[in-house]
Amino acid sequence: MMKLLHEREEIIKYSLKMVKSALTTGSGGNLSIFNRSEGLIAITPSGIEYHELTPNDILLLDIDGNIISSSNSTLLNSNLQDANFNLKPSSEVGFHLALYRKRSDINAVVHTHSPYATTFACLNREIMPVHYLVAFAGKKVPVAPYATFGTRELADNIASTIDDYNAILLANHGLVAVGKTMQNAFNTAEEIEFVARICYQTECIGKPIILSDDEMDKVIEKFKDYGSKEKS
Ligand SMILES: [Zn+2]
Repeated sequence: MMKLLHEREEIIKYSLKMVKSALTTGSGGNLSIFNRSEGLIAITPSGIEYHELTPNDILLLDIDGNIISSSNSTLLNSNLQDANFNLKPSSEVGFHLALYRKRSDINAVVHTHSPYATTFACLNREIMPVHYLVAFAGKKVPVAPYATFGTRELADNIASTIDDYNAILLANHGLVAVGKTMQNAFNTAEEIEFVARICYQTECIGKPIILSDDEMDKVIEKFKDYGSKEKS
């Protein structure tokens, strides 16, 4: 039995959804799931087109970023589970790990270069609550300061900005969304892209009305009720 098969399949499913819902193009962006009871993180590999991914291609890491070999018994079984040793984990593995270390309540990370969120990221501008759905992230979507992709500095900037937000922008780069499940993290990435688009559009033809802090408190409270009724 392939380790973390379910998580590997989830990652492939949501990678394809990410392309289909135009949250990314080509092999841009990356996804991971942390199975905390196994102590293992499943993550997309670097540089493979999403539609070509198979469960074998999804890499398993420990929280320190070591690539975990499949068990010896699997090798003896001579199935090709270790084929993924030719692959490298996503170049952004560092910030995925930093997020899991920082937030014990999250088990999934989605990173996209979705165009509207990235537009705000390139202005180094937070997304304000122009629409109540910003509550998927929190009261707003803050911006982590710029650092070169794939660096420790970027991981540090992200970890120090995430706080209790469920999505943040990466300056001049894109978006990161986190969640209890891959479905949560993905929905957040999708909803924040929608809010970013609405924010952009409202500014094109007028001056958006920003929801008050009190109203956002109410919405976030309602989201909690709603979330707890869901079986995630
Ligand atoms: Zn990126």
